Amino acid sequence: MKPAPFDYHRARSLGEAVALLERYGGEAKLLAGGQSLLAMMKLRLARPVALVDLGGVRELAYARETDGQVVFGAMARLHELESDLVRRRCPLLAEAARHIGHPAIRHRGTICGSLAHADPAAELPVLALALDAELVAIGARGTRIIPAEEFFVTMFTTGLGPSEILTEARFPVMPADTGWGFMELSRRPGDFAVAIAATVLRHGRDGETETPRVALGAVADRAIRSPGAEAVLRECLDVREKKQLNVCNTFNTKSMLGGALLGQKKYQGAEPLLKAGYQGMKARAQTIPPQGRMRLTEAAERLVQLYEATGNAAEAERWRKELARL
Ligand SMILES: Cc1cc2nc3c(=O)[nH]c(=O)nc-3n(C[C@H](O)[C@H](O)[C@H](O)COP(=O)(O)OP(=O)(O)OC[C@H]3O[C@@H](n4cnc5c(N)ncnc54)[C@H](O)[C@@H]3O)c2cc1C
Repeated sequence: MKPAPFDYHRARSLGEAVALLERYGGEAKLLAGGQSLLAMMKLRLARPVALVDLGGVRELAYARETDGQVVFGAMARLHELESDLVRRRCPLLAEAARHIGHPAIRHRGTICGSLAHADPAAELPVLALALDAELVAIGARGTRIIPAEEFFVTMFTTGLGPSEILTEARFPVMPADTGWGFMELSRRPGDFAVAIAATVLRHGRDGETETPRVALGAVADRAIRSPGAEAVLRECLDVREKKQLNVCNTFNTKSMLGGALLGQKKYQGAEPLLKAGYQGMKARAQTIPPQGRMRLTEAAERLVQLYEATGNAAEAERWRKELARL
């Protein structure tokens, strides 16, 4: 089927695009990558009076890191999710990206277009909820920031006004110690999902794990968080964190005892305790909480002191290098 007749405008700036949307009073639609909109128009599921094409607004085609956020402009394509920047700073997005359609779709479709389209079975709304993204909207009355949690209203409906443009999607950088997971069930690779789940575990400033965020897709009229799954995960974590602290304390105790012997110049007794304490903590460095890592540094410092005190320059140097790597 062919689309119903429509006017076509290629905007040259964001301001012009906003003005055009205003002029049509909600009867026009933005065209970004066209991967959803054009199919809907051909099926006559969408019959906009006019299309306002953002493709010529080059300044909207960016993906960059700013103020602790990975930020995508309105014309950043889906394949940007697989870039080095995203892999390093927001690995959950990169992992999920390969589930979105096929490479050809990801080279045309945009990140903001997928968010604005708000398909309940799409990956990006789920990721926006899991990562607590911010969405920046611009309209005739100015700019506003909408938290992901308030953005998705129901299927194919967002909190954007009829002449507002989603200009930017901002995803917080994931610190290296963030725990995360992504799972998608679909009939074949590249198909729309039958179910999507994304989980993010972050540490707060005090080193405690914040409330886990679990977001689901394709299970409701929009992407949703699952308070039930978050509560279950929180309980499991409480148990696990206590165990981790115990493990950490055992090796910490060895290192502390070794430190006490070091202070009494009982070097022979100190050495095996200091080494065992350090190596035990190091082996668990990926799982122990931040306060445990501080103890790891202290343990390495004690080994430097030991070898300096016993005049073993080569070992002292080796442990200084180890310390620098922590
Ligand atoms: C074969 C195929 C497979 C697909 N598989 C998947 C999949 O697995 N997962 C998935 O999530 N998607 C999938 N899609 C859908 C598609 O990739 C996305 O929905 C699409 O890329 C949306 O971005 P776009 O730039 O193409 O938006 P468009 O199609 O241009 O626009 C979509 C809608 O969003 C609005 N819009 C676009 N940009 C903005 C903006 N900046 N501000 C406000 N409104 C805006 C438009 O007006 C329109 O209503 C698939 C599509 C195809 C054709």
